Amino acid sequence: SSFLTMNLSRPLLKSISTLNFTKPTPIQAATIPVALLGKDIVGNAVTGSGKTAAFMIPMLERLLFREKGAQKAATRCLVLVPTRELAVQCFEVGMKLANHTDIRLALVVGGLSIKAQETTLRTRPDIIIATPGRLIDHVHNSPSFTLDALDILVLDEADRMLSDGFSDELTEIISSCPRSRQTMLFSATMTDDVDSLIRMSLDKPVRLFV
Ligand code: AMP
Repeated sequence: SSFLTMNLSRPLLKSISTLNFTKPTPIQAATIPVALLGKDIVGNAVTGSGKTAAFMIPMLERLLFREKGAQKAATRCLVLVPTRELAVQCFEVGMKLANHTDIRLALVVGGLSIKAQETTLRTRPDIIIATPGRLIDHVHNSPSFTLDALDILVLDEADRMLSDGFSDELTEIISSCPRSRQTMLFSATMTDDVDSLIRMSLDKPVRLFV
């Protein structure tokens, strides 16, 4: 399989080639075509499999595709990950892939100034990459912050977010998102808690086990 046969836009193909991704990894080959169709996805990919680009590439492509009709700035994608380190890694991959576009990404994690993040969030970045604890602070305390226009939600390392005690935060964040959206969930293990989260937050997901 090849990135060239996936119907991706030129700016994305350019970034993919700059990153020296010559061919899709198995999780990318499985996820990208399904995600481009807007379907909900459950994947069992682990770190190191290329899973970040597996959800980032179709997310960026769908943002580019919708750009034309959009009248005003709104946050359309949210990626939740369990740790600050994973958020930073995901943000870096996203920034590199978005390099030839005007898509704006924001990193929302603990340890950074909440005031500075509020200022960034007021500009309504297209994509937010966040840890659940810090994002919930903004849901509660930033009056202008909203997830009302969200099109795509990614729950990355879902098993770990749940075992790290973020269950309540996840429930609250997901219930703040529009019901009609695309949700992609990745988890190394499929526990009962992950299963409940899938039932609560995904609609007829395509299950990709690679
Ligand atoms: P991840 O599993 O998302 O943490 O990615 C693991 C590593 O694989 C990262 O350093 C990526 O830059 C790299 N990577 C992701 N996709 C590809 C690809 N298609 N070809 C080569 N390297 C890749």
